[in-house]
Amino acid sequence: MLRRVLLYLSERRWLRKLITRYGPTRAFAWRFVAGETTESALDAVRELSSRGIASTLDLLGESVRDARDAEESANEYLRLLDAIRESGLAAHISLKLTQLGLDVSEELCRGNLERILEKASEYGVFVRFDMESSAYTQRTLDIFGDLRQRWSNCGVVIQSYLYRSEQDVEELIRTGARVRLCKGAYLEPSSVAYQRKRDVDASYVRLMEKLLSAGNYPAIATHDPDMIAHAKEYVREKGIPPRSFEFQMLYGVRRDLQEALAREGYNVRCYVPFGTEWYPYFMRRLAERPANLMFVLRSVLAERRGAAGGRTP
Ligand SMILES: Cc1cc2nc3c(=O)[nH]c(=O)nc-3n(C[C@H](O)[C@H](O)[C@H](O)COP(=O)(O)OP(=O)(O)OC[C@H]3O[C@@H](n4cnc5c(N)ncnc54)[C@H](O)[C@@H]3O)c2cc1C
Repeated sequence: MLRRVLLYLSERRWLRKLITRYGPTRAFAWRFVAGETTESALDAVRELSSRGIASTLDLLGESVRDARDAEESANEYLRLLDAIRESGLAAHISLKLTQLGLDVSEELCRGNLERILEKASEYGVFVRFDMESSAYTQRTLDIFGDLRQRWSNCGVVIQSYLYRSEQDVEELIRTGARVRLCKGAYLEPSSVAYQRKRDVDASYVRLMEKLLSAGNYPAIATHDPDMIAHAKEYVREKGIPPRSFEFQMLYGVRRDLQEALAREGYNVRCYVPFGTEWYPYFMRRLAERPANLMFVLRSVLAERRGAAGGRTP
């Protein structure tokens, strides 16, 4: 129930204004977001790299409704690619199609993506198309399928909560596409998605096994210890080389597990989001773990007590 409320609120603009201006929530957001600037994000990449963890950088933004804003988002990604190259760091990038204009026109979105893929390919940077709500699944897969014919340096995301994902995974395996598998972070109706955690998890296991056995360097994106243990056991049993896939986790989530897997010799990549448009991303992270919400509320209350002259613990 709380998850549904938080996901609903993640799309409300009035709350966005309140939360992004409020000191304590901003401070808590930095646990999940690597700051608002490219410099702060590259510092995070550098720090992760020193611990043996690779990165994919996400310049936060989504649901852009204006052509000029979508073009500006693409320009920002081009500047990010230049900054990655200048830094000498080996980071990937992740992006959302609605940030590049998919809600305005498919043509605009494709044009923006082409500019990014062209430069990324020249610089040897891998580009991941994040997956948004089910309203965009088919269009994202179609655009990805087309652009991949020209640029091989890209991959896509599949969400295990969608009923359709088994077929999508089979098709992507058949074409040799690179897939990141996640559970799915949006509010979806029962007509398209499993609602119970155990069904989402069972689907995750089925898709993960297919990808580990036959996929092209799949990314197993989860913090769920059961999924991770299953992946490790499965590759061991089947004799699949540990370097033929990677684990992926989100910035600020289960850092202990990220480090432990890297120390055990697995490839680990951290998804590093940054930028000023962090509100919906932040709300989805709260929705995944109610304990995070309690932490925010406690910080807010503590600050209020501080402002009223009481002691802040
Ligand atoms: C690298 C990466 C990329 C992703 N890309 C996409 C995408 O393109 N599209 C999309 O829809 N979703 C994406 N997601 C989000 C994903 O769909 C899930 O919503 C999210 O990962 C939580 O699911 P879980 O697999 O960790 O398992 P869950 O069953 O949700 O959680 C398992 C355990 O992980 C820990 N955990 C999970 N989330 C948090 C959190 N926010 N804070 C603290 N602890 C937590 C808790 O210990 C929890 O018990 C991505 C996730 C990752 C890791």
